Amino acid sequence: MTFDWRLTCSGCDAESPADGLPTVCDRCGAPWLVRYARRPEPALRAALAARPATMWRYREWLPVLPGEEPVTLGEGMTPLVRLRSLERALGLAEVWIKDESQNPTGSFKARGMAAAVTRAVAAGARRFTTPTAGNAGVALAAYGARAGAAVRVYAPRTTPPRLLEQVGVHGAELQVQDGHIGDCGRASRAWAAETGAFDVSTLREPYRIEGKKTLGLEIAEQMGWALPDVILYPTGGGTGLIGMWKAFDELRRAGWVAETARPRLVSVQATGCAPVVRAVEAAATTTEPWADPVTAASGLRVPAPLGGALMLRALRETGGTAVAVSDDALLEAAGRVAAGEGLDMGPEGGAAIAALEALSRTGAIGARSRVVVFNTGAGWLYRS
Ligand SMILES: *Cc1c(COP(=O)(O)O)cnc(C)c1O
Repeated sequence: MTFDWRLTCSGCDAESPADGLPTVCDRCGAPWLVRYARRPEPALRAALAARPATMWRYREWLPVLPGEEPVTLGEGMTPLVRLRSLERALGLAEVWIKDESQNPTGSFKARGMAAAVTRAVAAGARRFTTPTAGNAGVALAAYGARAGAAVRVYAPRTTPPRLLEQVGVHGAELQVQDGHIGDCGRASRAWAAETGAFDVSTLREPYRIEGKKTLGLEIAEQMGWALPDVILYPTGGGTGLIGMWKAFDELRRAGWVAETARPRLVSVQATGCAPVVRAVEAAATTTEPWADPVTAASGLRVPAPLGGALMLRALRETGGTAVAVSDDALLEAAGRVAAGEGLDMGPEGGAAIAALEALSRTGAIGARSRVVVFNTGAGWLYRS
């Protein structure tokens, strides 16, 4: 295989070819980022509409080789749903929800896992493992099944029961652990070292970011290549935040969006686990581990994200910020939008709505802004 992309380290100046099963930089331990030799022509924008409505319509932007078939369940091209009631209530020009609950397996984890499993299987992986707060495990189980590979998933005992159940529905082996996702990560890495299984935990391999990058490509296409002013993203490991930051950068460089199109990225966390918010408030360049992570929004329960420094860089470079909301506020917002608008909001999506309301009340998100809010996963998976 000849790759027309390389890996560059996000922490030092190391570079690496893309073959084999890349993990993190062997020099400094930071995550790799994919750098392509190709730069898709703006003329390609017009051809997209005729392609199937999945994230693979952007294949020129993605880590696939000519003629290669991705491992896919039809992920991506989720609807962007306008919320006029919230626009009126908050005095904003436009509020859109990117409804990621409509992906295969009910969350946006499908995007990253489709890309990661595609590359790993092409490189010979036949067995996978991951720690999860719930949705990543369900997605890996499904994409592993699709690829004919074996999957083991490590999840905290506090994970919502439906999510745990879905792991088994897709034929994967579930290991329930005491503690949080960091504890599960240690167990998953130990098992990988012992058996040769490939660990696709957040940012420990470079391709989940590329899958999540399609969030940014889709928002651009769905908004007619005019990016919004602000994007609110419920943040755990930060794959999507980093992915969108990378997508917008690549789109600007290739001339697909204006040089001035620079959405402010807002990281939304729960007050019970907010390492990114604490780092932003301290003007720090790395996150420090959060001691006792507790929140009903299990996707946000990531106390020590590997991509902390990268997330903080994405927030700084886009003029963004980070904000924490309480579990009461995020659950109330999710319930209100689900009942009032018909969207199956997860608690993480509820956090993004509550954060939008808080930031627009203080003026941090100005009147007349065009805003995109993420509903990252389906609410039904959290209800028992
Ligand atoms: C994983 C997850 C998140 C956090 O996503 P990251 O890209 O890891 O920050 C948010 N919401 C849901 C529903 C998730 O499953």
